[in-house]
Amino acid sequence: MRAIAETAALAGALRGPRAGLRVLMYHALGSPVLGDARGIFSAAPALFEAHMAALAQAVRGGNARVTEVSAQPPGDQQLQVAIAFDDGYADNLRVAIPILERHGFPCAVFAVSELVRKGATPFLSPPELRELAARPGVVIGAHGATHVALTQCDDRTLENELVSSKHTLEDMLGKLVTALAYPYGAVDQRVRAAAERAGYTLGYTSHFDLNRPPCDPLLLARTSILGTDNARVFRQKLNGDWDWYRWRNAAAGNS
Ligand SMILES: [Zn+2]
Repeated sequence: MRAIAETAALAGALRGPRAGLRVLMYHALGSPVLGDARGIFSAAPALFEAHMAALAQAVRGGNARVTEVSAQPPGDQQLQVAIAFDDGYADNLRVAIPILERHGFPCAVFAVSELVRKGATPFLSPPELRELAARPGVVIGAHGATHVALTQCDDRTLENELVSSKHTLEDMLGKLVTALAYPYGAVDQRVRAAAERAGYTLGYTSHFDLNRPPCDPLLLARTSILGTDNARVFRQKLNGDWDWYRWRNAAAGNS
């Protein structure tokens, strides 16, 4: 596996980044992530800062453009990068926002509505969610009501997870919520259709890949960035050198 990665990295360094829309998927920045036995879904604040510095360098070098998460894949030969956080950790507001604002990078935060409503630690509270939503370039999306795998839900529970999470967040924020990240990346055609019926126009999976047109806006792939990815690995993932990872998604672990 290491040999494949090294060879791919070398090839990537020679040809530059793959063109398309790459949506970076983060979770927590320092807070512990429930069920994360390997401790890979929380990135230290200093590491996140190093990742964003590497991204800013790619932008300055003309190799990438950072866009809002709602952006569609570019038709041109450019790399567009969007930044997303799943689960709605309070550290997204405290840690990520100051760093992102310094670079002028927008982001999306996909919050679990019941965790927000209950004010559960270490997640965003309703006032924190509102504060986050008021920041320029921040989009709040849904991530289910209770973070269950939607593919495992019966039809009624599925609809409730999709509709109640959307409405709870909309009531808190006073604005429409039309983007969704599927908990655990669990999605199939039934879940996709239910998401569309519930009024979502953008759906993000945990499938590791770059989005290139034509692609389904309710089944967009993402690039998981882990707390163990140093700046070099981050640059490789940005470049597309880890896109072979899509072949082993089942083992990649998504939350
Ligand atoms: Zn999640």
